[in-house]
Amino acid sequence: MSDKALRPSPISPTVDFDSEGVQHGFLRLPYSRDDSAWGSVMIPITVIRNGSGPTALLTGGNHGDEYEGPIALFDLARSLRAEDVSGTVIVVPAMNYPAFVAGTRTSPIDSGNLNRSFPGRPDGTVTQKIADYFQRELLPRADIVLDFHSGGRTLDFLPFCAAHILPDKDQEARAFELVEAFSAPYSMRMLEIDAVGMYDTAAEEMGKVFITTELGGGGTATAKSAGIAKHGVMNVLRHTGIVAGGAEAGQTTWLDMPDGNCFSFAEEGGLIEPIFDLGDEVREGAVVARIYPTGRTGAPPIEIRAKMDGILCARHFPGLVKAGDCVAVIAVIVA
Ligand SMILES: [Zn+2]
Repeated sequence: MSDKALRPSPISPTVDFDSEGVQHGFLRLPYSRDDSAWGSVMIPITVIRNGSGPTALLTGGNHGDEYEGPIALFDLARSLRAEDVSGTVIVVPAMNYPAFVAGTRTSPIDSGNLNRSFPGRPDGTVTQKIADYFQRELLPRADIVLDFHSGGRTLDFLPFCAAHILPDKDQEARAFELVEAFSAPYSMRMLEIDAVGMYDTAAEEMGKVFITTELGGGGTATAKSAGIAKHGVMNVLRHTGIVAGGAEAGQTTWLDMPDGNCFSFAEEGGLIEPIFDLGDEVREGAVVARIYPTGRTGAPPIEIRAKMDGILCARHFPGLVKAGDCVAVIAVIVA
């Protein structure tokens, strides 16, 4: 089906994307329900526009339990002035707003994982309608896209900014340049477990320069991780020339996820004992975690072994683990 065959999005913005100045408003998504017959989901949005220049689309809360992005973007939305900008900055601190309000990864309305819902549907669920609006209305406006993620309640990450290996090497190079400019402590050439339906993939297939982050996790933010997000987003705006002055580059260590061997999954549930912490060097074959069966004493733990040399860049966060959970992710330091 071509885009033209789709009905218009039911979402109406209360901001005008072509007006100059700073506008704070909403993406209003009609959502009829028991407690509000003609009610709506009100997704906060800020548009800051001043003259000609590139457009940056900055998003957080794609998953509702990841907080560095929303912190950096609610702060940016209230502080960035039109006179600081050459071009347009579109800020949506909490994309999947129902999930963000509930503090959950997916939407409490329809269980939708926004980052597996692209390209979405204008006549679908609430989450699919949000995806469709980004797909057809917001992404086409953008030159560069920064989508903040963290580990949420179930994962914890070394703080990194990331982009993907792409078929278009020029697009890929511009994305990695922007990752370098973000200047997180780590920069990642990122591999996805399953890229279908992701916002990342939608933006990249449109030819946009797309970068993302994983800045911590455990369902909270720290002073350090929030600071990395705030510093990084300003660096991105400076690097693209939307805000004057060059990026304030810091030290970053480049990491690579070369293949699926970087991921380790639990085959049985239980009590997890971490053997390494984030950032620790790990050798192939080393035990990275033990999983104790919890039904009885006396049984040996299951050992999760590293399938490659590298450093531990992500780990399962809660103390109990289920079969199928991602337990550890190892990345290789790029020399
Ligand atoms: Zn996420």
